[in-house]
Amino acid sequence: MSFNIAIDGPAGAGKSTIAKMAAKKLGFIYVDTGAMYRALALYFMRCGIDVSSETGIAGALKNVSVTIAYEDGRQQVILNEENVTDLIRTEAVGNMASATSIYPAVRTKLLSLQREMAANHDVIMDGRDIGTNILPDADVKIYLTATSRERAKRRALELKQKGIACDIDAIEKDINERDERDKNREIAPLKQAEDAIYLDTSDMGIEAVVEKIMAIVKEKQ
Ligand code: C5P
Repeated sequence: MSFNIAIDGPAGAGKSTIAKMAAKKLGFIYVDTGAMYRALALYFMRCGIDVSSETGIAGALKNVSVTIAYEDGRQQVILNEENVTDLIRTEAVGNMASATSIYPAVRTKLLSLQREMAANHDVIMDGRDIGTNILPDADVKIYLTATSRERAKRRALELKQKGIACDIDAIEKDINERDERDKNREIAPLKQAEDAIYLDTSDMGIEAVVEKIMAIVKEKQ
């Protein structure tokens, strides 16, 4: 039986950074489910599909495949045979992913891929509905969060390091809008699973969060 760790939380909570580090220490595979929604979003953007058209989105899904591969332990997202791993990291794609992840057809498309990966490998999987919906029986569930200001600061720093100018207030507004949408959608909204451990990382460094997660996992292994 594989060992599954589910990490959910709002945008910019540090899920992927922390999950990647913990996965490396544990020898697990890191599965970034947001990247799968982003790959579909990129496809919808390229096709010029109207976000509000559920039928348009459902129709487009018939021609699209998203798969995951690993290169030197790094997750690669393949959209119809094209490696889009780096192309999906923009704010525009993130917002499109949030706007289109509300649709059942989009979520269903990715559900079996996510469950299959968890069934076949020891994984740390992060997203919005992993502990509540995708892997309800995960061995460890973490709900990772931080204040929206702190999350905006972290995003701004990341962008600055890439040489991209940004406005922290605009980033915070964007984050809050995305969270609202993710928390209030009808299907698989972002929320803490009843049996998830709540971790507010506003005042914690990355190493401390990883250590905390490692301790939680060791107790369950
Ligand atoms: O985590 P990331 O910012 O890459 O996710 C992009 C968007 O994909 C989220 O805002 C959310 O709407 C959607 N998503 C989701 N369920 C997941 C992972 C991501 O709905 N498990």
